[in-house]
Amino acid sequence: MLRLTTQCNSACTHCTVADVEAHEARDARQALGEIVEARKRGCDELVIMRGEPTLRPELAKLAQAARRIGYRLVQIQTNGRLLCYPDYLDRLVRAGVDFFEVSLFGARASTHDAISADEGAFDQTVAGLRLLAARPQLGHLVTIAVLAANLDELVAMVELVAELGLARVQLNFTRPVRVDGRWRTEVLARLDDAGPAIRAALRRARALGLAASTEAVPLCQLDPEDRAAAETARDFVDVQVVDLHRRHASFADHHRQVRPHAPQCAECALAQVCPTTWAAYQELFGTNELRALNSADGFL
Ligand code: SF4
Repeated sequence: MLRLTTQCNSACTHCTVADVEAHEARDARQALGEIVEARKRGCDELVIMRGEPTLRPELAKLAQAARRIGYRLVQIQTNGRLLCYPDYLDRLVRAGVDFFEVSLFGARASTHDAISADEGAFDQTVAGLRLLAARPQLGHLVTIAVLAANLDELVAMVELVAELGLARVQLNFTRPVRVDGRWRTEVLARLDDAGPAIRAALRRARALGLAASTEAVPLCQLDPEDRAAAETARDFVDVQVVDLHRRHASFADHHRQVRPHAPQCAECALAQVCPTTWAAYQELFGTNELRALNSADGFL
C-alpha cells in the first residue's frame, strides 16, 4: 500500500488523511523507486491509497511500470470523480489498473456533495461507478463511509450500488480524526446509532446478492450472519505500508494498536476474531457500546 499524496479534489468533512503529518508528496521517481523496492521484497499487489491518486498525472505510467515488473494486481483507492471520463478510465485500465475502490457518502446528491464539500461530486462518482459496472472484468469495491450525516441513507446506498450493477460493498465505521488539535467529532456517528443502520444495510445487501463487508465495526454490533465478513488483523499480516510519514513492514501490528480491545472484551467469546473499533473512538466516547458476546451468540 503506497501513498503518493494527501491532496484531493474533494474536501470531505471526515477526511481520514487530514491528520497525516504534512510531508511532501512523493514525486514520480520516488514512487517508482518504492514500487520497485517493494516488488523486490516480494509484494505482488499494489494498492495506491488516498489522497486522490487520479490527480497525479503519472498514475497510468506507475501502473504500467508495476505491471511490467510483475505486480499481478494494481488497485487504486479513489473518490471516483475522474473515472466519469471514459477516455481517462480507459487509459488507466490499459496501463494495468484492474481494481477500483471507490468511496460513496450518500444515496442522494445533496448528502454526498455536502460530505464531499463540493457540488457535483455525487454525479461524477456515480457516472464513474456506471462506467466501472460496464467493465465486469475489473475488480471493484464501493466503500461507504458511515457518518452521522448518512446513517439514514445506508440502505439506499446499498440499493444504489445494486442498481448500478456493481457487486461489492464495504461499510466503514469512520476513524476519528484530529486536525489542528481538535477532534472532528461532529461528523461521527455513535456506534449504538450506527449499529442498527449498518445491520439493516447488510441485510439489504444480502437480499440483493451483494458481497458485503465491514471495517472497524465491532462484532457485537453485527448480526451473526455478517460477522465473518468483518476484517481482522490477520487479514493484514502480509500487507506492507509505505505512507508519507511512516512505514509498516506488516500492517497487522498497526491494526491491533489502532483497534484495541476494551476491558469487557476479555469476557467475549469472539475477542480473537473481532476487529473492535478505533482506539480514538474508544478514548473519545468510552467503551459502553461494546458488549461481550458469549459462544451462544454464534459467529456465522
Ligand atoms: S465485546 Fe469486544 S471483542 Fe466482543 S464483539 Fe464487542 S468489541 Fe468485539
